[in-house]
Amino acid sequence: MMRKRLLISLPVFLACLSGWLLLSGKPSLWQDLTQKSEKERTGYNLVPILCFHDVNGAGPYSVSIQEFRTYLDILKKENIRVWPLKKIMEYHRQNRLMEQPTMAITIDDDFENIARVAAPILREYDYPATFFVYTRDINKHPRGGMAWEDLKRLLAEGFDVQNHSHTHTAFHEPRPFESKDQFAARVTQEVVTSREILEQNLPGNKIWAFAYPMGYYSPYLESRVREAGYDLILTVDANPVDLTSNFTGIMDRYTIQKEYVDDPMAMFYKQIAYARQKYSSAEVAQVEEGPDHGLK
Ligand SMILES: [Zn+2]
Repeated sequence: MMRKRLLISLPVFLACLSGWLLLSGKPSLWQDLTQKSEKERTGYNLVPILCFHDVNGAGPYSVSIQEFRTYLDILKKENIRVWPLKKIMEYHRQNRLMEQPTMAITIDDDFENIARVAAPILREYDYPATFFVYTRDINKHPRGGMAWEDLKRLLAEGFDVQNHSHTHTAFHEPRPFESKDQFAARVTQEVVTSREILEQNLPGNKIWAFAYPMGYYSPYLESRVREAGYDLILTVDANPVDLTSNFTGIMDRYTIQKEYVDDPMAMFYKQIAYARQKYSSAEVAQVEEGPDHGLK
């Protein structure tokens, strides 16, 4: 009787075992397979956003026309793809990796030869760029600044024009003796009114990005720029965009400069090295799991 019961229960046990394997073993195998395709994601995750200024060779952030060409030549020679800033933002939002080493070019401020010298050179190389301009001095030509006609031409040529404030002063914190309301109104002028001026004078060009002048920011200013509804805030904190990180609405840029760094070209090649750094999620997963050192 006992033996018979055992004979019956053995197939039942085997059926249960295979059922258990199906339910617990196989799904984990599937999990493994699906994780593997995630693990095998490869591409280029670091995207430096370059920030140029004037190309008249004067001042610490300016490069000469020849130096400007040299930078663009290097990008070409090193097979760096230059993409519009907006496209990189879209990739970052989706955490998509780049298929090839990529950078973006931005040019700040309102110098006349940006529109009349730098832009034609960029067109020669077929490189897109975003120009960050501030609105107070447009048409006043205080430093040979750009006129609305120049900006319209840039847009017609396929370049992008975005906001770099109204006065290009520091407005990340209140001035001495400035009331809370006065400060708030000043920030509104820099962040909101400037956008209205740009959109009124450049119809059809939506302003979606804001670059902090001189890189000054504060939690208050950040919250005001976000509140104003910009898609993207640009700093000059020099980190390449990491497409594997969560998109926060902020991207850092690397400022091309010559006086505040020991070796500007070495710094530029460092950006190229970032862009070329291959990313493999399999390797990252391995590092995260870590080698077994027998330590607990
Ligand atoms: Zn600036």
